[in-house]
Amino acid sequence: MEKFDVTVIGAGPGGYVAAIRCAQLGMKTAIIEKYPALGGTCLNVGCIPSKALLDSSEHFYNALHHFEEHGIDIKAPKVNLKQMIERKRGVVKVSVDGINYLMKKNKITVYTGHATFATKNTIDIAKADGSKEQIETAKTIIATGSKPSTLPGIEIDKKRIITSTEALELSEVPKNLIIIGGGVIGLELGSVYGRLGSKVTVVEFMDRIIPGMDAGLGKELQRVLKKNLGFEFLLKHKVTGVKTSGKEVTVSVLNAKDEPIEIKGDYCLVSVGRKPYTDNLGLDKIGVKVDNRGRIETDDHLKTSVDGIYAIGDVIKGAMLAHKAEEEGTYVAEIMAGQKPHIDYNLIPGVVYTWPEVAAVGFTEEQLKEQGRKYKTGSFPFKASGRARASMDTDGFVKVLADEATDEILGVHMIGPRVADMIAEAVVAMEYRASAEDVARMSHAHPTFTENMKEACLDATAKRPIHI
Ligand SMILES: Cc1cc2nc3c(=O)[nH]c(=O)nc-3n(C[C@H](O)[C@H](O)[C@H](O)COP(=O)(O)OP(=O)(O)OC[C@H]3O[C@@H](n4cnc5c(N)ncnc54)[C@H](O)[C@@H]3O)c2cc1C
Repeated sequence: MEKFDVTVIGAGPGGYVAAIRCAQLGMKTAIIEKYPALGGTCLNVGCIPSKALLDSSEHFYNALHHFEEHGIDIKAPKVNLKQMIERKRGVVKVSVDGINYLMKKNKITVYTGHATFATKNTIDIAKADGSKEQIETAKTIIATGSKPSTLPGIEIDKKRIITSTEALELSEVPKNLIIIGGGVIGLELGSVYGRLGSKVTVVEFMDRIIPGMDAGLGKELQRVLKKNLGFEFLLKHKVTGVKTSGKEVTVSVLNAKDEPIEIKGDYCLVSVGRKPYTDNLGLDKIGVKVDNRGRIETDDHLKTSVDGIYAIGDVIKGAMLAHKAEEEGTYVAEIMAGQKPHIDYNLIPGVVYTWPEVAAVGFTEEQLKEQGRKYKTGSFPFKASGRARASMDTDGFVKVLADEATDEILGVHMIGPRVADMIAEAVVAMEYRASAEDVARMSHAHPTFTENMKEACLDATAKRPIHI
């Protein structure tokens, strides 16, 4: 039986990064992935394919709505969804091939099959051809990720009632797409099909979209998606059931007044969050504890209730984000090697890749109010930015929250063009505990969208923005 210092179960961004860092630190490392393609949810049915489709649909939308204004005359563009999906598959393949290369480069042994603990130190691998293999390991990192969840009364048929996974592989553009859940994944995939011509209706139980983020961002995103893509939002609406009849989907809903109504469409995307995935992993057998939401319990060092077994990524508590999983992958490998790494969970940015993009890091105003912390606010709209006017991307703003007494930046909340990239500046500033004045006094290239960050900091620190 082959023996390893460490075995990683699951080859998503948490697992493959953990494996690479373990190998870099000199551990003999194995990784077990049940699917033939490495990369997990993120590379295969998550971050990468959704961004590929977001980019393609954005090109289509711009060709249809903005080229003429830019002085570019073309024949009316048509959607070739088959080619769009094919290109997306190509992007996924290149990314997955990259992970195969990294496993080889770092001399990590890859096993393809479903892993189940036989004992704390032996793992059974069930392969697709029915054969079995067993390996021995001193330590294990569980990085088995998550799967889409659903609501009581909704059965996903994967044809008309779909999750994000099927939404990335549709063979036609829906005429009327009903999205249950106004969170990140629903709004991103809704944007893809909204840009390609679907009439999109979002049904959300809460009184706002992207509920975890600063309230101002959701409000602005809702306004712009309605204005640009004709999205309809049914907030404070509770879905009670979904049925199909032929090509028609009927969603039963209780409206804000608790009255039953029905919404009809040809596809219904259920995007109400994801649940940790630990099926047939054998956790009971070895005594690894899970909490009441199915997440593997870990201590501050990401160790489970069993010595030598760690867990990271979507399968444990915290934001379900690829970069959070990656940080934990590195962290856990370094802990095993006796180092003293650190993750500041408050500084893990959250991004929504709609247009305008939404990005945030640190505390929201609501959280600061709850903490009773005194803070100042500064903001700067993109309509006052020369760079944004040049590209006609004037929706949105940057908002900076800073401690009232010390001026330290406590939270940055952005909606606007390319803010998914811009948020990195806020992360760096906050990691080094910069004050709003520190950032306001740094030179930001002109004309760039990043000038909005400088202006919002000028506003926060001393209410003296220049360009407004
Ligand atoms: C549509 C969509 C878009 C997203 N976009 C973004 C984004 O833009 N940015 C972002 O940060 N996050 C995004 N996410 C979330 C991101 O994909 C996840 O947070 C991330 O993949 C979690 O990484 P992980 O390594 O914990 O788990 P996963 O990526 O889920 O990987 C777990 C792996 O473990 C394997 N596995 C499970 N059980 C076993 C077993 N017993 N034996 C062997 N293998 C097993 C699974 O097959 C899987 O490959 C998106 C998700 C979706 C669905």
